[in-house]
Parts: sequence; C-alpha cells; structure tokens
Amino acid sequence: MDNGGTGTGAGAVSAMEAFEKLEKVGEGTYGKVYRARDKSTGKIVALKKTKLNEDEEGVPPTTLREISLLRMLSRDPHIVKLIDVKQGQNKEGRTVLYLVFEYMDCDVKKYIRSVRANGENIAPKIIKSLMYQLCKGVAFCHSHGVLHRDLKPHNLLMDTKTMMLKIADLGLARAYTVPMKKYTHEILTLWYRAPEVLLGATHYSTGVDMWSVACIFAELVTNQALFPGDSELQQLLHIFRLLGTPNEKLWPGVGKLVNWHEYPQWTAQPLSSAVPKLEEKGLHLLSEMLQYEPSKRISAKKAMEHPYFDDLDKTYL
Ligand code: AMP
Repeated sequence: MDNGGTGTGAGAVSAMEAFEKLEKVGEGTYGKVYRARDKSTGKIVALKKTKLNEDEEGVPPTTLREISLLRMLSRDPHIVKLIDVKQGQNKEGRTVLYLVFEYMDCDVKKYIRSVRANGENIAPKIIKSLMYQLCKGVAFCHSHGVLHRDLKPHNLLMDTKTMMLKIADLGLARAYTVPMKKYTHEILTLWYRAPEVLLGATHYSTGVDMWSVACIFAELVTNQALFPGDSELQQLLHIFRLLGTPNEKLWPGVGKLVNWHEYPQWTAQPLSSAVPKLEEKGLHLLSEMLQYEPSKRISAKKAMEHPYFDDLDKTYL
C-alpha cells in the first residue's frame, strides 16, 4: 500500500512481529522510542510508536504529510534516516503507526554530559565538525521549506564511532510557505528559544533555528547552556545581559512585539566573556548567529561558508 508517498504498509500486527523490542530508549514528541531488532536482517533500529488522535479513523492526512516530509528530509546524511513506516491496530482497535529509524547510540546532550563528567572539554576540531554537520542538516531542512523549531542537544543524535551528527525529532517541524503561516509560540525548549519567539512574534522564520544553533555552538565549547533561563522572563534577561537590552536602534520593531515591555538596561558584553575558549573566527560566526534582528541572522547555508570552517576536512561530511 502506498499512502500518497508515505509508504505506510498495512497490517502492522504482523509487521510488528518483524521487530523484537529490546528496551525503551526515550520518549519524544511522537511517543515512546524503543531500541529494536529487525528479525529478518538482525539490524538494530529505533522504533517510534506514534500517538494518533483518538477521534480519527485511520491515519490523519496531516500525519501522512509529515511522514512524507520526514522521508524526503531523511535523504540528507545529517538527518536521522526514516527507514520504514508500519501501520496497524493496537488491542483496542486503534490505528498505530510505527516509524522505523536508523539507530544512533548517543545524542549531543549525553555526549556533553560525559565529557563534562570527565572534567574534559570537547576538542575544537570535533566542535567544528559537529557544528558543520548541524549547519548542513539545518540548511537542508530550510532549503525544503521546513523549520525544525526545537533544535537542542537532546535531539541531535550522534554515532560516537564516526562522530556523525544527525538531526532528529522533526515531528514538530511544519512546512512553511510564503507568506508565513502563524505558529504557536509554545514549542521550543526555553534555553534555545529565540528572542522574537519569547517576545511573542507570530511570524517567525529560519532565524529561530539559527538562534538554537548558536546556543548549541556555545554549549559545545563551554559544556554549559549559554542562556539557562527557567522562565520566559528569565530567559530574556539571560539574553539581554550578554547581548545588551535591545532597543529600536539595535532591533527595529522590537517595541511592537506583543510581550515587549520595559526591561533593565544592559550594555552588550563581548561574546568572548561567555565563550572564552572559542577561537576568533568561531566568535565571529557565533555573533552572526546571535543577531537580534532575525533577518540579519546568518543562514545555515552561509554559515557553512564561514571562514571558521576553512580548516575543517569536509571530505566525509
Ligand atoms: P525524539 O522523539 O526524537 O525526541 O526521541 C526521544 C529520545 O529517544 C531521544 O532523546 C533519543 O534518546 C531517543 N531516540 C530517538 N530517535 C532515536 C534513534 N534514531 N536512535 C536512537 N535513539 C533515539
């Protein structure tokens, strides 16, 4: 069966017998994630059981569209590969979808934590490689009109043998069209959330992902979150303390955003004060990603051409 290119096969009851569930490895936007073995090939995969809307008969068209989008995006080597989709019924007779992904043994959050636990830092060359791969994956999403909107170390999967990075959890990504549709602003994890989202902008774009990429960049260098806010206000204040409180000169139109009010006045600090171990070109790239005005923020594609990456061996990336 081919559901408009999603490739959701019928008969998941039997299809699910094709996999041996090994253990639960996580819980994401879609539902539970299991490590599993494909009985026919012996290959280890990640199985994501999706929650479907209880009122729906079968698979809703929005889900089917998201799956075909995921399938298309996962052609990129820096996006986690969707191998297959199995459709079937659970015991209550409801439709269940199993997304079968390639299995990855680590994620950037775990990786940073293990490095920190050893009292070490990630080698500058590794940071550069991970950042390049991240920009490449994000550039691919953006070139296909998809925003991720929830980039964070937790959903950047890694293969620790090859140090390949792959973006996961594109579940909340929606295709955007021009003119931009409205998005709810309740999606990103606070620490990686762009200031325009925090300030209530309803029309946001690729810059929201680049902000998250910047926060991840700094965190790879310091092993600490750049802006660890525990509320929306604290998140903004963290940002303002480092980058200066924005005003109409720094960010034209900021005063018109719905959540804008008067904030304490801070002047911008040099980025090197927050990320002292980053080389000069890296600081420059970081500053281009942390522009207040979203349209001034460097794009993922441009970031890949930044001189910071000049000395990176890109042969296998
Ligand atoms: P997600 O829904 O992508 O946020 O997944 C939730 C958690 O499940 C992640 O933080 C990972 O630890 C794990 N996970 C997701 N996808 C994979 C995968 N392809 N391979 C291994 N673990 C995964």
